[in-house]
Amino acid sequence: MDPDTFRTLGHQAIDWIADYWQHLADHPVAPPVEPGSIRAQLPSAPPEHGEDFPALLADLERIVLPGLLHWQHPRFFGYFPANASGPAVLAELLSAGLGVQGMNWSTSPACTEVEQQMLDWFVQLLGLPAHFRGTGVIQDTASSALLVALLTALHRASGGRTRDHGTDGHRYRVYLTRETHSAAAKAAVITGLGLRALHDVATDADGAMDAADLETCIRADRAAGATPLMVVATRGTTSRLSFDALDAIGPVCRRHGVWLHVDAAYAGVAAICDELRWVGDGVHHADSYCTNPHKWLLTNFDCDLLWVTAPEALVGALSVLPEYLRNPASASGRVTDYRHWQVPLGRRFRALKLWSVVRWYGAEGLRAHIRTGVRHARLFAGLLRTDPRFTLLAPPVLGLVTFRLNASDVANRGLLDTVNTEGTTFLTHSEKNGTYFLRFATGGTFTEDRHVHEAWRALRKAASAGDEGEQG
Ligand code: PLP
Repeated sequence: MDPDTFRTLGHQAIDWIADYWQHLADHPVAPPVEPGSIRAQLPSAPPEHGEDFPALLADLERIVLPGLLHWQHPRFFGYFPANASGPAVLAELLSAGLGVQGMNWSTSPACTEVEQQMLDWFVQLLGLPAHFRGTGVIQDTASSALLVALLTALHRASGGRTRDHGTDGHRYRVYLTRETHSAAAKAAVITGLGLRALHDVATDADGAMDAADLETCIRADRAAGATPLMVVATRGTTSRLSFDALDAIGPVCRRHGVWLHVDAAYAGVAAICDELRWVGDGVHHADSYCTNPHKWLLTNFDCDLLWVTAPEALVGALSVLPEYLRNPASASGRVTDYRHWQVPLGRRFRALKLWSVVRWYGAEGLRAHIRTGVRHARLFAGLLRTDPRFTLLAPPVLGLVTFRLNASDVANRGLLDTVNTEGTTFLTHSEKNGTYFLRFATGGTFTEDRHVHEAWRALRKAASAGDEGEQG
């Protein structure tokens, strides 16, 4: 494709995205799809001869769109948001157009230095401790951040031995709670520690880690000959936004020389608002801390910000130096080579979309977006309170409302299925102590008050249909 053709078709592609966004509300949020039905519409063999790009756009419309869960839909309230925005998508396109690899500073100096600056900007924007400056890196996801942190903790705890000898028969222990994201278990599997390394710590009624029990677990493991390695604390758990108390957990970690990783994948970005800065309370205790602009901060997937306060341990854990990657800049010690801060070698220019988002919205625009999400959660909770058929599990926290229909788990499952199948809105579920509940997560880029009201009407209608079904 020559540049002039690219220009013409590029305009069409941008038009297509703009039209998609403009008419998103007309689509069912989650169209019904039978497994295999999308694939069945694709040719069984690749084309021998090249085709026109418009043919792809036509198939996007005909085959792909009906097979998508529309995450950018203004009435999408499932999981946590994974919101995109114009400035993010445009910069993502620019990044693809530049097609650079930022694995070493020398392989694209601007890629590294813009990223370093963005991470330092976010130290300011989120009110993070000053000692986080210069220790940040963009990872693809919070899962990768956790894995990298665990590898670094292993490196530090073993005095560097794990690089050469693996875990060397050590029985390391990683502390978490039943509310911790499954990424922690996955990281234990990937590192070879295995699930047996995981030690469940008790939680309080709000689902937050019990720091006293943490200390008891650590002492017991040590007495049994195991090595306490890492605590995974969460500021805003996935299921119901519990907040582990870092001011209680941090000193326990310090006393026992245990690495403290703090996962604030969803909630961390809310600290951009003064009144929500509490989400980062106690973060100065963290050895590593992450949050995802790709959830609630208008930056399309993927973009996770990770700070590791001892970057030399991180580099020590992950650096491998083949001859073909040697270069004078790296040898000078004056530059950061981000390939040592992550699992893959190659790396995308993700900082460009973050830069674009921060510049377009400004800090005040980002704050306004977070505040709208919080307001929408309160609006929805207020609507729920007007209908005695529903119970809030707790007052809304940030952009999450957790609730139940006052009926059996089966009826709640049925309600979710009915409302999602109807297509006006989309919600997801979780469980607390074995009890099933529904989650309504706000924060969509295009969501306005009316969409919250429309979702509420759809939910009430589905509940009424359930009532009739039960009576009939
Ligand atoms: N940690 C928490 C608290 C989350 O809520 C999530 C996802 O919702 C994750 C980690 C995983 O995020 P990612 O997809 O960035 O790995």
